[in-house]
Amino acid sequence: MKLALFGAEGKVGAVLLPLLARAGHEVKAIEIGDEPDVRGLDACVDFTTPEAAPANVRAALEQGVSCVVGTTGWDPQPLHELAAANGLRLFVAPNFSIGAVLMMRFAREAAAFFPRAEIIELHNEAKKDAPSGTARATAELIGGDTVIHSVRLPGLVAHQEVIFGGEGQLLTIRHDTTARESFAEGVLLALQKLDTLPPGLTVGLDTLL
Ligand code: NAP
Repeated sequence: MKLALFGAEGKVGAVLLPLLARAGHEVKAIEIGDEPDVRGLDACVDFTTPEAAPANVRAALEQGVSCVVGTTGWDPQPLHELAAANGLRLFVAPNFSIGAVLMMRFAREAAAFFPRAEIIELHNEAKKDAPSGTARATAELIGGDTVIHSVRLPGLVAHQEVIFGGEGQLLTIRHDTTARESFAEGVLLALQKLDTLPPGLTVGLDTLL
């Protein structure tokens, strides 16, 4: 596919760019300050910031280009109509790592059997949003008043623990992203399945597995 990658010099973008190329995609790198000219491309991928992503996605949709978005901490719902009206796809996933998606799925299953759960999410200190999109999505799946604790420290990549407490027992479900390569597999899957999605907004890698 002919792609644009918004945030190509970021921590995720820099890892993603060569992996997208290796998978056979032709990639135009777009950094902050570049004109978001994506007309004629097959899709855009965005790993930028919560401030930049809405404008990037809007620009892409207005130019007739579908989007795969990993940026967290913003609400894509207002762009659903624009995508749907133009027959385009807007795919957003708070986590593109398949292990993390399974962690969320297992947490949803466990929630039926435990009265309480708390989430600890741990990320690199540069991450701008807290709690993480993955933690918020997990809390929604579990339901109730699930408390989220956010840790931001150097040395971390992306980690999450969901601790379920019951009478005389604890269940901990944990996922560790140790390298950003783990996100590439999910992004490639989303690009491969993009055309099979209904026009408009689709949220979550789970919908593609
Ligand atoms: P990062 O290192 O801060 O990278 C963001 C990049 O986007 C930077 O290079 C930044 O440039 C650039 N940028 C800012 N505004 C832009 C614009 N208008 N157009 C194009 N590029 C722009 O962050 P990261 O760790 O790569 O993460 C990026 C986003 O993805 C965050 O929201 C993070 O939470 C999310 N994320 C999602 C997943 C997932 O699986 N869904 C996984 C990891 C991260 P400057 O540095 O010059 O400002």
